[in-house]
Amino acid sequence: MRNIYDFTLKELEDYFVSIGDKKFRATQIYDFLYKKRISDIEQMSNISKSIKEHLITNFSFDKIKLIVKQEDKDVKKYLFELLDGQRIESVLMYHDYGISICVSSQVGCNMGCKFCESGRLKKVRNLEAYEIVQQILLIEEDIKERISHVVVMGIGEPFDNYDNLMRFVRIINEGKGIAIGSRHITVSTCGLIPGIERFMNEEGQVNLAISLHAPNDEIRRQIMPIAKVYDMDSLFEVLKSYIDKTNRRITIEYIMLDGINDSVEMAQELAVRLKGLNCYVNLIPYNETENIGYKRTKSSQIMKFYDILKKKNINVTIRREFGSKVDAACGQLRANQSSN
Ligand code: SAH
Repeated sequence: MRNIYDFTLKELEDYFVSIGDKKFRATQIYDFLYKKRISDIEQMSNISKSIKEHLITNFSFDKIKLIVKQEDKDVKKYLFELLDGQRIESVLMYHDYGISICVSSQVGCNMGCKFCESGRLKKVRNLEAYEIVQQILLIEEDIKERISHVVVMGIGEPFDNYDNLMRFVRIINEGKGIAIGSRHITVSTCGLIPGIERFMNEEGQVNLAISLHAPNDEIRRQIMPIAKVYDMDSLFEVLKSYIDKTNRRITIEYIMLDGINDSVEMAQELAVRLKGLNCYVNLIPYNETENIGYKRTKSSQIMKFYDILKKKNINVTIRREFGSKVDAACGQLRANQSSN
């Protein structure tokens, strides 16, 4: 039985028409689920008994379960249990421009980036769209506030779960539903070229972020196995077509790993590589984890790296840090739970 939170409005409309009911029923259901936040069918007024019975027999209204919450002042971390017992996590961050949430897209991840905690557990399965949607609903219910921005940067590689990712994007972007604007949604990928190619042909203005983390193939291959499949020349070629096609600026994520990718020469090499590309670079201070040997670059070196990019006219920021006190680096909360 498919979960009711897995349907785009259009699909739900088609469904009601197909059973001889009115298209408008879909809007009504969306209104209950996403505006009034009612998931108990009995509380859905204005819906006839026979439709209610139909819904109960044909759809699942089940929700994932919040099992652990950790908080610090500007960050909250949530561990969820899915209906089959698998666990994923999401992170909520308070910014001056609003509230953002970082959602997971898979249970585990197959990309195997050496520095990343999430990838230590191989992919168990993709998340269904409803499981990503519900991360937002449950967190909004918890904080009793509306989330303004969504980043798909939690556990998983979104472009390795493309169809469910896009279904999720359409559901949360729907004006009659949660209505998060596409410009407030960012999808981050380690660089799966076929995914980027599909993504540039989608409607809407969803942002794209690329986890680059290295100025050249040699270093990238040491830390990201995917770089052996897609080299940087091919990646940059597709990024250029993405920018040409969408007219949108992309984000380049660059984790600062001590002694690995953070030298002055590498900053210069990166600047050359990025010259003329409509992008901005987000330098990410690495969150060290117990299980992985990499160390965080010292702040003074991060500043040097930053200055070099700046001088070469590259747009660059250093990511503000959230929640290292509550183990908010990707994958860490989950990793600390005994179910692994
Ligand atoms: N697979 C996608 C989505 C996950 S994004 C991608 O690779 O883009 C998660 C982001 O957090 C990536 O940029 C990843 O490289 C980064 N990240 C992973 N582990 C981290 C850590 N310990 N500290 C800081 N950033 C980390």
